[in-house]
Amino acid sequence: MSKIKDLTGKKFGMVTVIKLDRIENRRTYWICKCDCGNIFTRRSDIIQNKEVKSCGCYQKENNKIIGTLHGDGSKKSKYHRLYQCYQSMKQRCYNPNCIQFKDWGGRGIKVCDEWKNDYLKFKKWALSHGYHDELTLDRIKVNRNYEPNNCRWITKIEQNRNTRKCKHFLINNKDYTIPLLSKKLGISDDTIHYWLKKGCDINYILKRFKSNKEVVRE
Ligand SMILES: [Zn+2]
Repeated sequence: MSKIKDLTGKKFGMVTVIKLDRIENRRTYWICKCDCGNIFTRRSDIIQNKEVKSCGCYQKENNKIIGTLHGDGSKKSKYHRLYQCYQSMKQRCYNPNCIQFKDWGGRGIKVCDEWKNDYLKFKKWALSHGYHDELTLDRIKVNRNYEPNNCRWITKIEQNRNTRKCKHFLINNKDYTIPLLSKKLGISDDTIHYWLKKGCDINYILKRFKSNKEVVRE
């Protein structure tokens, strides 16, 4: 039997080797103590693996702070909704079968490489930029990508307001937004939105309020 490498007293990360426990299938197992106080037995090659830093407590601590990709995929995770936001952002940009693809990926909107390849980077950004389960991810400039300096968390109401601003209507081959129409018709954005929400066609709204102004005749 070849000489075993004595690890007694050595420290690896948070783990201190106390003494040899046993030899099994030519591998040595050592009794170790973690800085957290936990005593356990571990195989020599795992003790010496630089990626394993503790009895497992270090990883758990870390996960508590950032959470793992796997963890947030679970419905039990506190950050499950954030993870879903992340996934649907990628779907909108990269999955042609996604209903919303045409307005995102189809228009060339991408997710920056940093986020696209690493959920935890996205999560770190989100948590340090006011993420909350009630908020939605918004791009500040609508023609720019999902990237840290073009994104923010806003309320659904704010988002609806933005969508309303961006909604376009083609009337007599002319492009109108709601603010533009409201000026033309002499009624407020909210009034137009109210009728749209009731399910009314834009032409109905035009007819209804036409008397107010000479409207869309130019
Ligand atoms: Zn430990």
